[in-house]
Amino acid sequence: MSVHLDQRQRAILAEMGVRVWSPVEEPQTVSSVTPPHVPARVAPVVHAPVTRPATPILVQRPEGIDQMDWPTLQHTVSQCQACSLCGTRHNTVFGVGAKAEPAQAPQVDWLIVGEAPGENEDLQGEPFVGQAGQLLDNILSAMGLSRQGEGQGAGVYITNVLKCRPPGNRNPKPDEVAQCLPYLERQVALLQPKIILAMGRFAVQALLRDSLPDVETIPLGKLRGQVHSYQGVPVVVTYHPAYVLRNLPEKAKVWADVCLAMATLRVA
Ligand code: URA
Repeated sequence: MSVHLDQRQRAILAEMGVRVWSPVEEPQTVSSVTPPHVPARVAPVVHAPVTRPATPILVQRPEGIDQMDWPTLQHTVSQCQACSLCGTRHNTVFGVGAKAEPAQAPQVDWLIVGEAPGENEDLQGEPFVGQAGQLLDNILSAMGLSRQGEGQGAGVYITNVLKCRPPGNRNPKPDEVAQCLPYLERQVALLQPKIILAMGRFAVQALLRDSLPDVETIPLGKLRGQVHSYQGVPVVVTYHPAYVLRNLPEKAKVWADVCLAMATLRVA
């Protein structure tokens, strides 16, 4: 079939994402009614694949996060589209830990805060399930605890600063942290842990930014060995398990930090 498209029609189709292919060296059968400058035969219209914009349409976080109960908070996180990470995640990763009564936050002594979900966490919807998670599980077991919150009656909850995976496991961006932080703040308020173990730079910065305004300029090593505070909850700083896996001699320092946290909890 012969299809003639003028420039305007082609421009409209291009605008719609429809590409029209014209053969370059197609033999032309010029009919008597076809003007000499128009190819008599034009190849069929080819629909180009629809390309989605790289940046998803973002939706503001709902009001009143600081009043939400645990199930509402969990649901809100699962629907969150406040930053571009919602466009690449498979699952949000809210946290894991001690079982809770219906509509209640889990009762825990310990809150462990990491950075952000990685690939495995994104696929499974649970924090610290990869290699770093195995190390964390070993640390918990040495403490007599477990991620399910069993052991010595002291519940544990594990979460991250970001609830969605940054693509390629890159570092969280400041705007992503800013969008996600109200969720962590509400988790802390509802969990009311007796101690927080902040693992790695991003957790430390997120939790101590109010009490130490220049926290971003202080090397993490210098923040270890002291008990800090977040909203009245003692905070102990330690290295991130993924960092320890790359620097195995630092394991002993993490254990020293955990011992400081356990001693702090005993006198709390
Ligand atoms: N690293 C984190 O900080 N959190 C996870 O959940 C997994 C790896």
